[in-house]
Amino acid sequence: MYAMECVVCGESSGSSEDFADGQSWVFRHCGRNPSHHTFREIITRPWRTWRHA
Ligand SMILES: [Zn+2]
Repeated sequence: MYAMECVVCGESSGSSEDFADGQSWVFRHCGRNPSHHTFREIITRPWRTWRHA
């Protein structure tokens, strides 16, 4: 899962399985807030254990 977060205002794109969704959110966010140029990428990897010792 990918999400993008604006470092300036803390707004986030919300997580999506498609990285392109986060990217298009960044472009929209920059368009609305021309002074917000710094973003953080948040990657959530689903991780499951299947062996219980
Ligand atoms: Zn922002």
